[in-house]
Amino acid sequence: MSKKLRLTERTRTLLTLELAIVLPAAALMGFSIWNLKHIQRSEAVQAAFERDFSHVLRIAEKKSLERANDLLTPVRKEFPNPDDGDSKIKTGLRRILLEHPEYRFAGLYDKKNNLLLTRLQPGHEQDEVFCALTQEEIKGVASWLPLEASKMVEGVRTAAEKEERPVGFEGWWTGAENQQTYWNFAYFIPPGVAKDRVTLGMVAFDGDYLRKSFLPAMMKDVLTSKSIVLRGDANPPVMMIHPPKDSTPWVASANWDGGKPEMERAFTDVFPRLHVAIKYQGTTVADLGTKFLRYNYIVLGALSLLMAGGVWLTYRNLSREMTLARLKSDFVANVSHELRTPLALIRLYAETLELGRLMAKDKYQEYFRIIREESERLTALINNILDFSRIEAGRKEYEFKETNLAELVHSTLESYRFQIQQNGFAFEENISGDIPPVIVDREAIAGSLLNLLNNALKYSKDRKYIGVSLYRSNSRVNLEVQDRGIGIPKNEQEKIFEKFYRCGDALVHNIKGSGLGLSLVRHIARAHGGDVLVESAPEKGSKFTIALPLDSPTQPGDAMA
Ligand code: ADP
Repeated sequence: MSKKLRLTERTRTLLTLELAIVLPAAALMGFSIWNLKHIQRSEAVQAAFERDFSHVLRIAEKKSLERANDLLTPVRKEFPNPDDGDSKIKTGLRRILLEHPEYRFAGLYDKKNNLLLTRLQPGHEQDEVFCALTQEEIKGVASWLPLEASKMVEGVRTAAEKEERPVGFEGWWTGAENQQTYWNFAYFIPPGVAKDRVTLGMVAFDGDYLRKSFLPAMMKDVLTSKSIVLRGDANPPVMMIHPPKDSTPWVASANWDGGKPEMERAFTDVFPRLHVAIKYQGTTVADLGTKFLRYNYIVLGALSLLMAGGVWLTYRNLSREMTLARLKSDFVANVSHELRTPLALIRLYAETLELGRLMAKDKYQEYFRIIREESERLTALINNILDFSRIEAGRKEYEFKETNLAELVHSTLESYRFQIQQNGFAFEENISGDIPPVIVDREAIAGSLLNLLNNALKYSKDRKYIGVSLYRSNSRVNLEVQDRGIGIPKNEQEKIFEKFYRCGDALVHNIKGSGLGLSLVRHIARAHGGDVLVESAPEKGSKFTIALPLDSPTQPGDAMA
């Protein structure tokens, strides 16, 4: 019945634990893991990174446009007019190129006069290859310009009307892969040209200038700009520019470390057909995501461990409390039983004596002895309970006095000897003669010895023997009580010193006891600065040793374990 009750109590506790802590916590963990998995799959994170990158790339184009425009503005203002006459135009173009070595060639197209005048950069006049290649490209431009010019002029005019930059750009690549050359020119309407006239001024940025100076400066400017805040900015972003069909960098920012870019943008407003690409140095967005996830999984794992630890601790404490509650109720039953038995005996024998019907004189003696012994048992039990309650309340006080321990032990044994022998025990007393005076509480030590003797009596079956020894061992005095009784299993040897604890053995439960004796002995021994030890083997017997220090620095009022 009680076993069944205990089982349900335990199950109930477990259920409460699970419902109250484990379930919500596990749900929370599960949700977090699901959430993380979801993040892993969701494109939201990727999109956030892409937004950042695309912002940077937009700025790269904007800065390029601004810079190119700054370079073009003075050129536009002093550009020759189509009505100036060929030679004046040519001198004008040549002067511009001389002043601005960053241009490869300059030209003027006028539809009305069917005129396309161009000049090459005078700085490169000696370079035949340069001249030949540039002339080739100019020829190419000349072939399509008459067809496109009206549209180009219109575009520039509309931009000017909208108060935008009145400049257009053309750009293209020539040459085989890995050896590509970038060609471009900016076009605008020279000053003083009538509104309905199709005239274009042109200057081409030198490829080397773009590659070695203009674009690297632009990228540096963008990447160091304060207005750019990228996420996960443990690693700085790096950029490069490449032709549309070839992803080998044509120009790269100083810290470019190769690898696949995260994002690309094709320039349109300025330098068409340049592709600018961006990524993080030394890492990828995917790696950052994985790192983030790994970090979160580790945190979650640690939290789960903490939670499991917490649940385990709570469970352990709860079961301890439950065991204690059970021990307490057992204790009440045991104590009541222990009180009732001697009282009943005392009453029975006292009544018999009162009737005065006994004939034999030795019967009188026996009855008186039984009454005395039973009342002694009662006193011992009540003393134990009182001591225990004082200790529990922290009110136990010791009267430490210099004591002749040999004498104390001997006299205690004397008062108990008769009872031991009456119970058919062989008794051996072994008190060494070299015990110096020790500072102890007489009553407490005598009480402890009685508790140990009492246990030896109670927990012995056929082999009835009790040996008590008192001897010196280094800086200690050992008081030993040995029996050849039922013994104590190894796993219970520590527990027997806990309050209310009684061994699980069915035999023990038939023997009266409160489970307080040994816990008191231990408390007393420790209050004396010593301890109590047990050596025992089931069916062989037990040996309890109270070890007291000789230079007894006492610690009264130790908490009870
Ligand atoms: P109790 O009142 O039950 O004897 P104690 O605190 O004195 O309480 O002892 C606790 C338990 O330790 C006992 O119930 C018993 O199981 C075990 N025990 C104590 N002394 C001995 C002994 N000498 N031999 C065998 N078991 C013992």
